[in-house]
Amino acid sequence: MSKATPTSSSHFDVIVIGSGPGGEGAAMGLTKAGLRVAVVEKESTVGGGCTHWGTIPSKALRHTVSRIIEFNQSPIYTGDNQHIHSTFSAILGHAQSVIGKQTRMRQGFYDRNLCTILHGSARFSNTHEMELTTADGTVDKYTADKFVIATGSRPYRPKDVDFTHPRVYDSDSILSLQHDPRHVIIYGAGVIGSEYASIFRGLGIKVDLINTRDRLLSFLDNEMSDSLSYHFWNSGVLIRNDETYEKIEGTKEGVILHLQSGKKMKADCLLFANGRTGNTDSLNLKAVGLKADSRGQLSVNDNYGTAVEHVYAVGDVIGYPSLASAAYDQGRIVAQAIVEGQANGRLIDHIPTGIYTIPEISSVGKTEQELTAAKVPYEVGRAQFKHLARAQIAGMDVGSLKILFHRETKEILGIHCFGERAAEIIHIGQAIFEQKGEGNTLDYFINTTFNYPTMAEAYRVAALNGLNRLF
Ligand SMILES: Cc1cc2nc3c(=O)[nH]c(=O)nc-3n(C[C@H](O)[C@H](O)[C@H](O)COP(=O)(O)OP(=O)(O)OC[C@H]3O[C@@H](n4cnc5c(N)ncnc54)[C@H](O)[C@@H]3O)c2cc1C
Repeated sequence: MSKATPTSSSHFDVIVIGSGPGGEGAAMGLTKAGLRVAVVEKESTVGGGCTHWGTIPSKALRHTVSRIIEFNQSPIYTGDNQHIHSTFSAILGHAQSVIGKQTRMRQGFYDRNLCTILHGSARFSNTHEMELTTADGTVDKYTADKFVIATGSRPYRPKDVDFTHPRVYDSDSILSLQHDPRHVIIYGAGVIGSEYASIFRGLGIKVDLINTRDRLLSFLDNEMSDSLSYHFWNSGVLIRNDETYEKIEGTKEGVILHLQSGKKMKADCLLFANGRTGNTDSLNLKAVGLKADSRGQLSVNDNYGTAVEHVYAVGDVIGYPSLASAAYDQGRIVAQAIVEGQANGRLIDHIPTGIYTIPEISSVGKTEQELTAAKVPYEVGRAQFKHLARAQIAGMDVGSLKILFHRETKEILGIHCFGERAAEIIHIGQAIFEQKGEGNTLDYFINTTFNYPTMAEAYRVAALNGLNRLF
């Protein structure tokens, strides 16, 4: 596409709807290529659900709780039996300050790249036209050659649950929790539910975690999922697997959860964290000739193009993997597809999993269950954090690193890490795992010299442990 010449102040080469990671990645790629771009954002600040309600606040809350736990468990600090106690409302302050920093930084990206931001809610009115309804109710019309839908997702709210009740929350509204609960029920034990279970339990709050499946985070390697279950159990989280709600009853001072199995439980509040819906219902998609599926999601091709040639979609609104990390990349790839007519880049096949529970979990590649089902002759190399000097120094002895490799070629097939900083540690292994040909073998970890003492050394220990199993 040629460099744009502005034709009218309300016409753009591309209008990107949504300023989360997907929209930002796309807008930056497009403006840097010289296109005239507008980003539409219905909130008063940029950053998307990622910055304001999702990734950033939950990670900031988790970080504070994890430091409190570290302080309270360390003999260095608690010599005089001093313990820190905090509340959810108190630790929200740190999250708010990070949100502020992120928002200012992201606004700076748009300002520096002369990208127009239009604040208001977008809806299509024609194939190349959209209406923007601003906070004061004014409706303006804008046209574009192309559109990128990056409107993200929101928590799924079943109709029979009363989310207007002051003690019933979802993962967005939990951030405005005003009272300090002593007992929380979390309905849904996916990644978001499990992360919030860690946050609340770390603050000393009683947590009942209701799982609609038969095990926690069943997509993980079984050992990782079992380790999380054990640590939740050990820290006092009550997990109930294979349960479905019958009724969620709001009372004056809390909530009663009625389960289809006949059980009942009572708590000060309930966090409903069971599924998400794509934000497409308010876009009037039929005006542009599109239709979302029952979960509000859009289907796309390798270029992130939808069924309508000039409309693209990225991020949570297209479903899997529904991660901020992937949404940024999808945004950059769609920009390339629009500018060059074809995207050369592709999302990597093995997207790492980062789960910020306490302890943290991260993995890349295959699980033991997948390799066994595929009859791959693999072997396992393990390192336990408690045997690493750096972990002993830092008091991080809970955790392990597991490398799965082919017993004949020593090709790395999967890496699974459990423990503090797992989401960082995994990237050392990922760099080798992603190498093509002979670069991707256990030998790298055996032949290289690691800084000492480091957590990275776990790779050498695990590799040697695995090698010793070969005969
Ligand atoms: C609690 C929680 C924790 C998470 N933790 C992680 C994590 O640790 N790591 C990770 O990678 N991912 C995490 N995620 C997922 C991550 O936040 C999402 O994958 C990511 O935000 C998706 O980016 P996006 O650009 O598609 O949408 P979003 O970030 O949701 O942004 C969409 C934007 O579009 C705007 N919008 C919607 N409709 C309109 C409209 N009609 N007009 C104008 N603007 C509109 C919205 O206001 C919003 O600002 C988490 C999510 C949650 C909820």
